[in-house]
Amino acid sequence: MKFSFKLLLCTFFVLAAAMGFSGYYFVNYVFQTSLEREAGQALDESSILGFAFETAALSVPAKYNVLQDQTVEQIATQLEAGNRSSGRLLRLSDEEGRTLYASEGFAPDGSLLSQTGEGMRAWQAVQAGEKYYIHTVGTISALNRALYLETLRDVSEVFSERQLGFRVYRRVTVLVLAAGAGIMLLISSWLTKPIRQLTRATKRMAAGEYGYRAKKVSEDELGQLTVDFNRMAGSLEEKVEELEAQIQDREDFVAAFAHELKTPLTSIIGYADLLRSRQLEEEKQILSANYIYTEGKRLEAMSLRLLELIVTRRHEAELTEVPVEAFFSWLQEMFATREKMGLDVSWEAGRVKAENGLIKTVLLNLVDNACKASEPGGRIEVTGQRCEGGYRFCVKDYGVGIPREEQKKILGAFYMVDKSRARSKNGAGLGLALCEEILRLHQSRLEIESAPGAGSSFSFVLQEVSE
Ligand code: ADP
Repeated sequence: MKFSFKLLLCTFFVLAAAMGFSGYYFVNYVFQTSLEREAGQALDESSILGFAFETAALSVPAKYNVLQDQTVEQIATQLEAGNRSSGRLLRLSDEEGRTLYASEGFAPDGSLLSQTGEGMRAWQAVQAGEKYYIHTVGTISALNRALYLETLRDVSEVFSERQLGFRVYRRVTVLVLAAGAGIMLLISSWLTKPIRQLTRATKRMAAGEYGYRAKKVSEDELGQLTVDFNRMAGSLEEKVEELEAQIQDREDFVAAFAHELKTPLTSIIGYADLLRSRQLEEEKQILSANYIYTEGKRLEAMSLRLLELIVTRRHEAELTEVPVEAFFSWLQEMFATREKMGLDVSWEAGRVKAENGLIKTVLLNLVDNACKASEPGGRIEVTGQRCEGGYRFCVKDYGVGIPREEQKKILGAFYMVDKSRARSKNGAGLGLALCEEILRLHQSRLEIESAPGAGSSFSFVLQEVSE
């Protein structure tokens, strides 16, 4: 069942119960008040009748010192005749409850009379046929006798007014409920609008429309829920985009890897086929075997690099405090034997947070790339200095340089600016990707400044530790 419908039903039942109860209470209250007023009047009339009876009894001849039953009847008949127009009925009974006189049609039994003692007055509402009466009992004392005077006052109108009240109230209730249901339908549909918006947004998102946002239509808790939902949808969208980018990266990686594998393998298979299918001259034999060897070596280097990259991606760096001297002195020693190189290493003392072996790999790759990009003996500067935010390592060469549009791409796996030049130097486009991975573990990244023909500088900043 829809939430708006539930809301409507609940309100409908509450309204129906409230209207029913209040209507019943109101009509009954009016009825009770009217009935009590009528009873008051009936009692007053009974008193007046009693007084008239006692007055009439005073004029009875003195020879009777006790009021005779016959006289009672006579006085009662006169009293009734005098009041016929009022429609009131009366009954007179003696001390034992014996009826001395009763108007025609005086129906009630003697139950009220039996409950009433001398000097007391009482009343009750009674039904006779289709009519309703106020039945009163009062006492009269006349000529040494105590008599009971009962009257009946017709109050059928009060009862039929009550019936009419109920009927009118029932109609009003039905009308109010019908109008209320219509209004509540509008209100519940207005109240549940934000929920409908959210449901629509959820469905669209489930169908893959991650950019869809629910419209905020109120400023209340549901409005806040819409804002929170949209915020959640935003971060979900970001995550999905991130995952999609990762999947794309992986696919590109595999495609590039397959491509890089194919080139050396084609050469190896081709030369091996030549060797086995033909009797070649010794010189060609050596040349073919040489190709197979160098391409095999390239494959070996590539697989080692790849392995290194994969291991690094899964690696959790254990950063320790390392004096920067450990890197720069090591570099100097590494390249000291290569006489043709103009490697210039200079650094400012300092300590950084790093995993020693990994940062050495980065520096080695950068210097190696600088060598490949430079003419033999070309000048390469490796510098280290404190900077804002840490300690900066920089490897600068004056070699071929990199075009601006290629600078971002070279950080991706298997990307080479000049493929044949890179392959001829055993490159596979994995070195810088590996450097990026290592620096990511150190919360850092490579910054490239380069211009074609003018050389390049690759730098990165590590967190410095105060001495
Ligand atoms: P590899 O050196 O194995 O080819 P890298 O990922 O280290 O792979 O480098 C990717 C490409 O970036 C290289 O093929 C080269 O074209 C370019 N490159 C890297 N360093 C330099 C540099 N210092 N000067 C010019 N080009 C460079």
